[in-house]
Amino acid sequence: MTTMTPDWRTLAASVQYPTGLLIDGKWEAGPSRHEVISPIDGRVVTDVAFGDAAAIDRAVAAARASFEDRRWAGMSPMDRKDVLVRWAHLVNDHAEQLAVLTTLEMGKPAREAKAVDVRACHRTLRWFGEAIDKVLDEIPKVGDSSWAMIEREPAGVVAAITPWNFPLTLETWKIAPALAVGCSMVLKPSEMSPLTALYVAQLGLEAGLPDGVLNVVNGLGATTGAALASHMDVDIVTFTGSTATGRAIMTAAAQSNMKRPYLELGGKGANVVFPDADLDAAAAASAWAVTYNAGQMCSAGSRLVVHESVKDEVLAKVLDAMAAMQPADPLDHSAPIGAIASARQLETIHGIVRDGLDAGGRLLMGGEPVLVETGGSYYPPTVVDGLEPDSLLAQREVFGPVLSVLTFTSDEEAVAIGNATNYGLASAVWTNDLSRARRVSKGLKMGTVWVNCYEEGDLTVPFGGVKQSGFGSDKSLHAMDKFTDLKTTWIELS
Ligand code: NAD
Repeated sequence: MTTMTPDWRTLAASVQYPTGLLIDGKWEAGPSRHEVISPIDGRVVTDVAFGDAAAIDRAVAAARASFEDRRWAGMSPMDRKDVLVRWAHLVNDHAEQLAVLTTLEMGKPAREAKAVDVRACHRTLRWFGEAIDKVLDEIPKVGDSSWAMIEREPAGVVAAITPWNFPLTLETWKIAPALAVGCSMVLKPSEMSPLTALYVAQLGLEAGLPDGVLNVVNGLGATTGAALASHMDVDIVTFTGSTATGRAIMTAAAQSNMKRPYLELGGKGANVVFPDADLDAAAAASAWAVTYNAGQMCSAGSRLVVHESVKDEVLAKVLDAMAAMQPADPLDHSAPIGAIASARQLETIHGIVRDGLDAGGRLLMGGEPVLVETGGSYYPPTVVDGLEPDSLLAQREVFGPVLSVLTFTSDEEAVAIGNATNYGLASAVWTNDLSRARRVSKGLKMGTVWVNCYEEGDLTVPFGGVKQSGFGSDKSLHAMDKFTDLKTTWIELS
């Protein structure tokens, strides 16, 4: 990865990338082409192939053939590791191209796409590649007259359906563990971020991934995605996206061949701030947690749950910090935040804010789209106070830079408010009292609780939700379990 500051605009104008369907190691023009609209300025970036049900059939057949003849699963673990690690290094070599493509298609600052998304993609491929021969099978103690083995077998053909907010990261969180255990795959990226997936898949071929092991078919969720979720020859569907789509995918899985679904869904994260916390740190992190990636984060800290006694002090600091996070052209090096991923997403955010204000919320900052003259989609940091914990804005996932402010007076109430949504993805507790930190974090029904930090972690720990945030975590060695079947062989000895 080069360390010099690239000229993102020049790179955006010159970057080359594939736009077809990737099936069985070959690029196809596809049955139809769809425009990719940049949220930076509303302009058409290019057009890209969308696959139909027939394309999904061919991609699944290619994945199935590559799985059954064991061209990948049967390769020595060392050789498979070499491919994934080589692929990781190629991602680094192409970091700026991948970053600028991310920005063009979904609007986050190119600086962040390179520092966060591309880095995560590189590290995930490398981490799971290196893990391939570290996860062992088991031989239980069953006595002298028998011999039993518990083996981890690759589960077969995995379908991955992914969103647009961290396209590279979230795709690789699925691809790397599934390929590491020896599965073959069909990836259906979000229709709003189709380009990065094609680019990274091309690098996979260059790294030595055999034909058919990773197929990429772009398309709309209701058609291409649904064809994959209900396909009779897919063994697992692993999904990241909204809770509503997760429900549709689980239904399709049940009504087709009962493929195994794994669902990473929405969230309504809270920063729970106690009076004994480092209030400067809590406020800075709370502002960051809802504005980073323009709030388009499943784990966004979209609720500030603050003790009544320090509310005014904390809120003043949060407002100060959020005021500095204004949207700007994401190809500018200094853009604090970039664009909202699409005009439709902007409309959704604004609609939820308006509903919250109609229901009695008090607007403290933001609340109207900005930079409208650019033709792009931009929403400023927005803060709404005066909400009840069960109000619409305190309940719904906004997926934009919009913070709801709530207060509590006791530890029990803090936990109750933290848990008062259908979601259970991630939240943070801010306190310098270790016992309280442990008690409150234990009480929060979340896949992840951070103490005195937000969004920290690495590949060694799982990331996933409980309740309607889904099940089946990404990351960590547990992610490899998702894509394996346990097989028992019991041998009676003579
Ligand atoms: P989305 O549910 O609209 O789309 C996600 C993917 O599902 C896309 O590829 C889409 O084409 C596909 N899809 C849509 N309808 C489908 C159907 N009927 N059958 C099969 N596939 C279908 O979500 P989005 O707007 O792309 O992403 C935002 C959502 O993702 C938010 O709710 C966010 O919280 C969630 N998310 C969750 C995590 C997590 O790890 N829990 C991470 C990032 C984003």
